[in-house]
Amino acid sequence: MKTLALANQKGGVGKTTTAINLGAALGALEKRVLVVDCDPQGNASRGLGCSGEAPNLYDVLVGEAAPRDVVKATGFPFLDVLPTDRDLVALEVELAGEADWQPALRRALEPVLSAYDFVLIDCPPSLGHLTIMALTAAEGLLVPLQCEYFALEGISELMATLERVRESVNPQLKIAGIVFTMFDHRTNLARDVVAETREHFGARVCDTIIPRNVRLAEAPSHGMPILQYDIKSRGAQAYLELATEVLRRGE
Ligand code: ADP
Ligand code: MG
Repeated sequence: MKTLALANQKGGVGKTTTAINLGAALGALEKRVLVVDCDPQGNASRGLGCSGEAPNLYDVLVGEAAPRDVVKATGFPFLDVLPTDRDLVALEVELAGEADWQPALRRALEPVLSAYDFVLIDCPPSLGHLTIMALTAAEGLLVPLQCEYFALEGISELMATLERVRESVNPQLKIAGIVFTMFDHRTNLARDVVAETREHFGARVCDTIIPRNVRLAEAPSHGMPILQYDIKSRGAQAYLELATEVLRRGE
């Protein structure tokens, strides 16, 4: 699996942090990575030091720019970003009126796919058109889950969406993994949530658990992935471990 959508309709669970830092960690392992920012909030773009000014993903999706003219190199080797900004909100509305909108992102990315080993699509916190479009373009769904009591709330809705996308436009779509983020080893609750989820989802839950680490929260304001901002941090080490696991799972 090379194209992975990071989706969970809950906000603040670590989708963007994982897109940026898993991307950078795969880059550190010399895999060529493209992060596609599919959230109009543009957090992945800014976290990778890119403003998302036009032309951006919106222009690509409406056919007014070629992806190779919009993709930007980041300050990190092997890591590029296809940036976005608020324009994408309009797209959500425009798409709603069109037939056959689901494969728009898949088609848009096609010309640049061969240049990358991995494409990570950062989804917005909803199960609307943009997330469906991302799931249609993806081979795998990677679900970041926060280690808290309500973590699994909404997962059934996400799985139902996955099923609908499989049945309609993308039968190949698989669950690439469920990855726990912001883990606090001091609380029993976090450990219980992980154990319960493993019981339910088995091997689909990644072995790697991303700890709560303040350096991960600081890095985006410097426009850098954690590996560039503080390679010695626990957050950096965890994302390197996750990258290794993603490679292993892909074999
Ligand atoms: P989402 O994209 O799902 O909305 P984010 O990746 O933006 O979630 O994360 C939400 C907030 O939590 C951000 O402020 C981010 O910096 C912070 N954060 C994410 N992962 C961690 C972590 N492992 N440790 C500490 N803070 C984190
Ligand atoms: Mg986000």
